[in-house]
Amino acid sequence: MSFRLTARCKFDALTDIPIAFLESRGCELLLLDLDNTIAPYGEPLPRPEVTRWVQRVTDAGITAHIVSNSRKTERVKRFADALGVRYVVRARKPFPVVMRTVIDGLNVPPQRAVMVGDQIFTDTLGANLAGAVSVIVKPIRLSNALLALRYAAESPFRLLTRKDTQQ
Ligand SMILES: [Mg+2]
Repeated sequence: MSFRLTARCKFDALTDIPIAFLESRGCELLLLDLDNTIAPYGEPLPRPEVTRWVQRVTDAGITAHIVSNSRKTERVKRFADALGVRYVVRARKPFPVVMRTVIDGLNVPPQRAVMVGDQIFTDTLGANLAGAVSVIVKPIRLSNALLALRYAAESPFRLLTRKDTQQ
């Protein structure tokens, strides 16, 4: 557990993460942020390429699980059902409690859990506090000024995060 604002590594998009990357880290559990990681705010269902990517993750024997701060239970459930994964809403990231409850509930050592998200101050910090492997992706769409501002504030930490070089 550590208070770090840099992720273990970064990719441009969720579907850019090679399954081999997850396997090379012994990943057993893939925790996924929803908004702007799986889909932009407002989109009702995952795009086909995301569904295919999550299927490949599942085929590799890795459990995928949505961990969202959203209060929109119906929206999150719709995505989870479409992707065939479990979910939790109101996760209160960056507080690690809910994330850690998911990890411990599935009997996975935290260092074998990978958390992918688009926000440093929630997803990355929360993953680091939970003892999971943090991966940052670019937000799919900065659809309002607040999101753009937050992205700008996160930029130094993104720059300090390395791209995966082990592939
Ligand atoms: Mg997000």
